[in-house]
Amino acid sequence: MTAPDTRSAATIVASAGVRSDPGYGSLTPPLFASDTYEWPDAATKPAYDYSRTVNPNRALLIEALAALEGAAGGAATASGQSAVLLATLLLPAGARVVAPHDCYGGTYRLLSGLEADGKLVTRFVDMADDAAFDAAMAWGPALVWIETPSNPLLRVTDIARRAGAARAAGALVCADNTVMTPCRQRPLDLGCDLVMHSTTKALNGHADLFGGALLAKDSALVERIEWWANAAGLSASAHECWQTLRGLRTLPLRIERMEASARAVHAWLAEQPAIAALHYPGDGFMLSFELAGDAAAFLTGLNLLTLASSLGGYATLICKPSTMTHRGMPPEAQAEAGIAPDLLRLSVGLEAPDDIIADLARGIAALG
Ligand SMILES: *Cc1c(COP(=O)(O)O)cnc(C)c1O
Repeated sequence: MTAPDTRSAATIVASAGVRSDPGYGSLTPPLFASDTYEWPDAATKPAYDYSRTVNPNRALLIEALAALEGAAGGAATASGQSAVLLATLLLPAGARVVAPHDCYGGTYRLLSGLEADGKLVTRFVDMADDAAFDAAMAWGPALVWIETPSNPLLRVTDIARRAGAARAAGALVCADNTVMTPCRQRPLDLGCDLVMHSTTKALNGHADLFGGALLAKDSALVERIEWWANAAGLSASAHECWQTLRGLRTLPLRIERMEASARAVHAWLAEQPAIAALHYPGDGFMLSFELAGDAAAFLTGLNLLTLASSLGGYATLICKPSTMTHRGMPPEAQAEAGIAPDLLRLSVGLEAPDDIIADLARGIAALG
């Protein structure tokens, strides 16, 4: 066992891979785009042999993400979805999975598709309902999926409590930590076996690439993750890893700013009579709300905010989950999860909070 990494997130990201260049001594890690590497002789496999399996830029990114999450290692994948798929590859055929009924729409789509093809069986449960959760544990799941705060309703799940019960039931526990980021929540410290990310979102933060990660604390699990990422070819490219590490360097700064703005936006929305329901866990850069009025009219009034699916980037985005991020979830399942047809979700970015609020005021004015 190596000693736990006690460096702060800011120091981890500012120093990741710095002065690691063996060739020219560059401060910033160079981009190793080569697909393959020279062997000294046919019997001696070099540490880096073929970039699907292992690549210096990917290794640096995994090292930084593992340090942030308190993991032993894992895989950096081509998207968040390929990290979810990778987690399912750790399971036997026909395994039982328990997932939140209000999980990310893409996760819902993937788990439902695997079930439709007879590969896995998933029970989607309300993670806030003790009786439903306990019954799902008694069902004997091989994997329990946690996503907190949930998306788009930002419901909070007690990770330590649910992970403890899931592990006692013999399940692997994986938390999707995309929305909270390791700056605010470290699921492995709270008893999860695996932590998954869409690095497309806040970790990269610049809305210009796709990436994901699946990390574990236990080294035997890390080896299985690496084996499957290589066997299935799910790994992120060198270029995307290089660029993600660049984005990651400002993560703690961006999170602080986006959160402070989200709190200001929340305080302002809470005072508006036109807001019929408001969801904000008190922390984080995401909030969602329903209007006492027509969401379409509100959206046409906006000028600064962009109507787009994604979150955690520099630009404030607004989306209508029912027809955008969660369209892979049938209307009945949306209703079950409490996703109202006109619910709007906001990912607060790096603009000045007063300008974001002024734009929301334009949207409300457009309600007439
Ligand atoms: C975006 C997202 C994913 C999927 O990630 P992609 O990079 O889009 O494949 C999974 N979980 C959450 C919470 C997300 O926001």
